[in-house]
Amino acid sequence: MRFKKRWSVKCALCTFGIPLTFWLGIYILYWELQLSDRPDSRRQPIKFKARKPFKDVDENLKLISELENSFFKSGDLEEGNKPNGKTDEKGHQEDYDVVKTQELGRIFNEKDREMRDHGYKDHAFNQLVSDRLSLHRKIPDTRNELCKEIVYPSQLPTASIIICFHNEAFTALLRTVHSVLDRSPSDLIYEIILVDDASIFAHLGKKLDQYIQKNFYKVKLLKTPQRLGLIRARIYGANFAKGQVVVFLDSHCEVNTQWLQPLLAPIAVDYHTVTVPIIDMINPDTFVYQPSPLVRGGFNWGLHFRWDPIPVSTNHTVQPIKTPTMAGGLFAMNKTYFHQLGAYDAGMNIWGGENLEISFRIWQCGGSLEIIPCSRVGHIFRKRRPYSSPVGEDTMLKNSIRVAKVWMDEYADYFFQQNWLAKKYSYGDISDRLALRQRLKCNSFKWYLDNIYPEQTLPDDKQSKHLELRMKKDVHQDKIVRKGSIRHLESGKCLQTDEEIFTKKALIVLAPCQQGLAKQLWYETDESELKLASKLCMDVDVGKSQQIMTRLAKCTGLSGSQNWIWKSKDTAFQVYNPTVGMCLCSETYAGGMYAGVSICGETPSQLFTFVT
Ligand code: UDP
Ligand code: MN
Repeated sequence: MRFKKRWSVKCALCTFGIPLTFWLGIYILYWELQLSDRPDSRRQPIKFKARKPFKDVDENLKLISELENSFFKSGDLEEGNKPNGKTDEKGHQEDYDVVKTQELGRIFNEKDREMRDHGYKDHAFNQLVSDRLSLHRKIPDTRNELCKEIVYPSQLPTASIIICFHNEAFTALLRTVHSVLDRSPSDLIYEIILVDDASIFAHLGKKLDQYIQKNFYKVKLLKTPQRLGLIRARIYGANFAKGQVVVFLDSHCEVNTQWLQPLLAPIAVDYHTVTVPIIDMINPDTFVYQPSPLVRGGFNWGLHFRWDPIPVSTNHTVQPIKTPTMAGGLFAMNKTYFHQLGAYDAGMNIWGGENLEISFRIWQCGGSLEIIPCSRVGHIFRKRRPYSSPVGEDTMLKNSIRVAKVWMDEYADYFFQQNWLAKKYSYGDISDRLALRQRLKCNSFKWYLDNIYPEQTLPDDKQSKHLELRMKKDVHQDKIVRKGSIRHLESGKCLQTDEEIFTKKALIVLAPCQQGLAKQLWYETDESELKLASKLCMDVDVGKSQQIMTRLAKCTGLSGSQNWIWKSKDTAFQVYNPTVGMCLCSETYAGGMYAGVSICGETPSQLFTFVT
């Protein structure tokens, strides 16, 4: 019997157990590969429609050889890898032109091909192109035109720029450093701190030391005692910082024109403000520099960062925009405040989650997080991260659990409901972080959702609960400063909507004044909005045409195109819109009169009074 039983167990093992283990192994391997190679949506801004599809290597090579045959004379080919744009003294391309930049990835021989493939493996971007570009290459100034007119205070706090890297490409790292030195006022840069997080590539050894010694004097290179991961490496770097503000950058960035002053200015006014630039996109394959749209940071209940759209009307603003979260890689913060607020969670490993953690913490503990539209920094967005965690841990998961447990109160349940793995995953000791939250007397997560991120919906109650709350908030929180009609002095007419008071996009026109008419009843809020019948807001319609019209739009509550600032002019007022940098005026069109904007000047068509 015993014998028989053992055999039947063995048979069962053969028929079911072994194949089962085999397939389970394949399945785990598949997921491992998926995880380490997964596309990285976290810091990738909303994609442009024009984005070219990724071509595989063979297809690219075919294309290149076709191009070579059609465009290049044999003499040019023999010249080798010389780019065809303006070059620096070392022969690397310096000027910027999309077409020329796109040409830089051209493979001329086997060696190029090998180098490129190696580069992709090590860095997940086209190192060959990076190496062919000047370390001082020019990039397009992607700022809104109005940014260029802003004059920043001459006295601003000094910055320690902290750049952590693990196995970075030599030229990408140095271009980051050079771009900072080339495009920042030198008196604002206290130092640049490079933190080498246990890199193993040879080019980051002696070669880097020598380059730094020979070329820089404000650059310090620190080496972490062992691999810390980006979170602890940043803390490590910040502990050495001597400037007044710490500015974190990834090691594959290029800062744009006048990027630093707009980040420092709001911090100088209020040190509780943490500022984030718009992160432009450096294409990982071509290094073409593309502007990013103005978007805000949000998150989903899996605790993944996401970009949330902002109302189109705010797209052209130059004013800071409050954002519920940040992407993580690039931001500026008063150094003392960074430490006071608990730096980062040192219990977090390698990568992930730290951006939501610091965002929640900033808001919940009394700070403010703002995107600065006039500060732009390019970042190479890769399709995958080329490194892994030393112990094979899912650090994103571990770190996210810490975020949920420390900051999200009862809302953490939503995260755990979506992540069955998270329920059992080990997340270490969080008692220090809980104590920090107590010590700083931080607000609840409910407070954060209600006040900072009312647009967020809950998984089980998609729309209603939070929208309801938001509507209530809209009615109750807006402080009305005054209400009445807005009279245009020159014509004696009043501003009113062309349609019903609830009709979005309706033009604002000038019509004979009528007391008590709802269409002419404007509420001015303490945020400088003009709400009609306390519902929709006066907005500017920045279209393609020269003539800019004003229209009714859903109130955004963001500073921007819905801000109308009354400036006294003896007998009456000019009404200035900071987004377009122009003043409200009367325009005639097809026999009628409507409200537009024009360059502020001494013209009676720009004079208004608010009749309460
Ligand atoms: N980094 C680091 N140590 C690590 C992992 C990353 O210092 O263990 C650095 C990395 O070189 C980069 C920054 O942290 O400068 C952010 O990492 P990465 O660019 O891979 O993140 P992503 O931009 O993809 O979010
Ligand atoms: Mn990065």
